[in-house]
Amino acid sequence: MTGSLDEKIKRWVRPEIRALKAYHVPDASGLVKLDAMENPYSWPEDVRRQWMEVLQGVALNRYPDPDAHRIRERLRTTLDVPAGMELILGNGSDELIQTTLMAVSNPNAVVLAPTPTFVMYEMIATFTGMKFVGVPLQPDFSLAMPAMLKAIETHKPAVIFLAYPNNPTGNLFSREDVARVIEASPGLVVMDEAYHAFADHSFMDRLGKHDNLLVMRTLSKQGLAGLRLGVLAGPAPWLAEFNKVRLPYNIGSLTQASAEFALTHLALLDEQARQIRQDREQLFQALSRLRGVQAWPSQTNFILFRVEKRHADEVFESLRARGVLIKNLNSSSGMLKGCLRVTVGTPSENDAFLKALEAAL
Ligand code: PMP
Repeated sequence: MTGSLDEKIKRWVRPEIRALKAYHVPDASGLVKLDAMENPYSWPEDVRRQWMEVLQGVALNRYPDPDAHRIRERLRTTLDVPAGMELILGNGSDELIQTTLMAVSNPNAVVLAPTPTFVMYEMIATFTGMKFVGVPLQPDFSLAMPAMLKAIETHKPAVIFLAYPNNPTGNLFSREDVARVIEASPGLVVMDEAYHAFADHSFMDRLGKHDNLLVMRTLSKQGLAGLRLGVLAGPAPWLAEFNKVRLPYNIGSLTQASAEFALTHLALLDEQARQIRQDREQLFQALSRLRGVQAWPSQTNFILFRVEKRHADEVFESLRARGVLIKNLNSSSGMLKGCLRVTVGTPSENDAFLKALEAAL
């Protein structure tokens, strides 16, 4: 064997992969963790105990149910998936983005999304060998319709991702605009409803009305981020194709059993989401009152805000030094200059954040 390890990597790893940066997750030890849109609440002691009992019954020596039949049927009802529509599950919705793109990937195929949006659409498009086209949102974060329609006509995207509500801007796009995008698209439109629990609208009831529409959900933002369970719903013929590229046993037995258990305690999850929505409004009001801060209304469990008097990187570092970790979006793109994103935590975490922010401004 000749050549250094460096040379071997250059020879064998695709250039576009070498150019990527791995998804960075900062260390949050010892910090108030408001960076990742997690639900801050755990379950009451008695519910945790019942859960442990369920887990004891799981046969870890056996492979999981490859089709996750029981949890799929339960999700069909819980998520109000319209009759006649199918669903497949992923190890988080991240995996479902990957499954979708692997099924349609070819060197000329395009993935399109309005930007700024969830960064994994572009990353996964890149590593599945597709081209990503971003269409900038308007300054008020609504869809730039003439530009969207033009880009659809020019690029004929295989897949369009619309995060509904959008991350990191927190808003819902207009239903009429979305409907026009779906109608104009020759390929798939995936409505990514990761933040559905905190929003007032969904496209779930539109499934089947358009043969190119899929709706994606996740249990991550509802207090189950550690489980890794995402759901993609839509017409059976699409999902039958995607199912061929899904790895067998992608949903572990512990996840299947835990998710099934959690969904029998739906009222608890719903109550936590209701509390988070209520606290989001208080946090928004408090942020809006701060001088030098512009906060945007949100239909999610996070709030995007811009700091106007001090450099956002400094504010972010100063918050971290005061024990609060949020997300710095300042370097992302022109539209997010000066912007930071905070996840809605418990009332006391939100207070700690607000105090730290006031001191940091
Ligand atoms: N979609 C959007 C819009 C997101 O913001 C996120 C996570 N931040 C995901 C999907 C991925 O969620 P998960 O893989 O945990 O289901």
